[in-house]
Amino acid sequence: MKTNNQSPASHVYYDDTIDSAVQNAFNAFEGYKKLPVTSRIALMEQIIAEIQANRGSLLSLAQKETALPGARLSGEIDRTINQIRMFIALLDDGSWKNAIIDTALPDRQPFPQPDLRQIQQPIGVVAVFGASNFPFAFSVAGGDTISALAAGCPVVYKVHDGHPETSMLTADCIVQAMSKTCIPEGVFAIVYTTSNESSIQIVNHPLLKAVAFTGSFAGGKALYSAASSRPEPIPVYAEMGSTNPVFILPGKLKESAEQIALTMVFSNTLGVGQFCTNPGLMTIIDSPETQKFAEAFKKHLSEAAGGKMLTGRIHRSYSNGISKLKAKPQLEFIGEGKNSGGDFEGVPHAFSVSGIDFLADEDLLEEYFGPTSIRVIASDQIELLEVAKRLPGQLTVTVWANQQDCEEFKELFHILEGKAGRLIINNAPTGVEVTHAMVHGGPYPATTDARTTSVGSTSIYRFTRPVCYQNFPEMLLPDELKDDNPLGIVRRINGEYTKEMKL
Ligand code: NAP
Repeated sequence: MKTNNQSPASHVYYDDTIDSAVQNAFNAFEGYKKLPVTSRIALMEQIIAEIQANRGSLLSLAQKETALPGARLSGEIDRTINQIRMFIALLDDGSWKNAIIDTALPDRQPFPQPDLRQIQQPIGVVAVFGASNFPFAFSVAGGDTISALAAGCPVVYKVHDGHPETSMLTADCIVQAMSKTCIPEGVFAIVYTTSNESSIQIVNHPLLKAVAFTGSFAGGKALYSAASSRPEPIPVYAEMGSTNPVFILPGKLKESAEQIALTMVFSNTLGVGQFCTNPGLMTIIDSPETQKFAEAFKKHLSEAAGGKMLTGRIHRSYSNGISKLKAKPQLEFIGEGKNSGGDFEGVPHAFSVSGIDFLADEDLLEEYFGPTSIRVIASDQIELLEVAKRLPGQLTVTVWANQQDCEEFKELFHILEGKAGRLIINNAPTGVEVTHAMVHGGPYPATTDARTTSVGSTSIYRFTRPVCYQNFPEMLLPDELKDDNPLGIVRRINGEYTKEMKL
């Protein structure tokens, strides 16, 4: 994957120049941080313009490298651009800085209270490990990079070897945008590595302050362990996927077995199942409707197409997973989808298991990344609740329920609230909206930090920290905290949210 034969550019680094990448990013940090917010907005707008100008080439490179369909990739570019627009609006609005002012109480007894003012400040250089399955939205100019740049942090981006040329061109777009908007060199760099040791070297760099990652549990955990063992430990925001369990409750099943089966097969096989929100586990209580659902599911699965998987490594891991599941005597093999016999084809599969056997086998809690699902047939409500309790942390959980189910299964919702970052009713978990309220995160092992999200505007807080200024003179305060509110942003003054221009 190394693209050494290309002419060296000042923002492109390799195994042997990792130190320079991080050092240059660090050198650029203070200058970047000091720029007015309008400079960061101009940078974001120019990144959009550069991506638009290179859209055709980006698309054909990504198609060649990932085998993802053109329409899907084109939609992903739109999503990436919308994501950047959301951060532009956020920067423009300014309220994300969480400016808080508690004015002094000089007459308070027994001691006066000082003047205290808090805002969010950028943490420093961030390393981003891009994903294989989203060459745009979770890669070079994806949410991690853009939220870090919006926060005021330089980014050192580690290229995923599933799409090295797409990454190079996207990085060129960012660097072009930086040059046209007078952003200091070093604020963005990409690194091509050839070994895990090099990736760990990035994480271990003493000038690095945080890591964002999307990928496997093994990869995320390795980076997390390295970061926690540093002399100065740093946060790793690793999104490591999940089985995205689905619970289909009896009332809803009776009403809509066919529709649920169709939706679930579609969601499970979409994009050859290579989404971190892919529904891989479905629990249902045994009843006459279960059979109706099973027949509809099998029919739709047999019509579902497979497709070329993103990388040979992902295909190998999927095939091994299917073999492992097929070898388990307690699992019933339900059926499979279409197989065109192409290279690295991920063929849809489905299995079924009783609740009692599921509860006895830890392997079934694992993610089998690809278009496969395991259906758990619980004998009753109690067993269904036991399945819910057994689940490790997840990105999403979905419940299919009607009004009566919602009444009768309140306990299930209480359990699931503790399990996932996003709870869904009567819909597919695939498709992650990019909005202010979105949470794409969840308790371990779905991520390494359940308090954060990697999608949506609040993802910016992974790369900021609160700073409090006590009794500071006006001239030294950041604009967001000055008495007359020169930026006109929402602030919390003595407990009240206000846009007041005067204290
Ligand atoms: P991956 O193997 O975790 O790789 C992601 C990135 O992390 C790559 O840049 C990789 O570098 C690096 N990395 C991996 N293991 C590492 C280690 N031990 N030490 C240091 N760096 C390491 O993910 P992938 O290649 O995208 O796909 C493999 C599996 O990840 C899939 O089968 C699936 O299970 C899971 N996955 C999950 C998601 C999700 O949404 N969470 C998305 C895609 C894939 P190198 O390329 O240099 O090894």
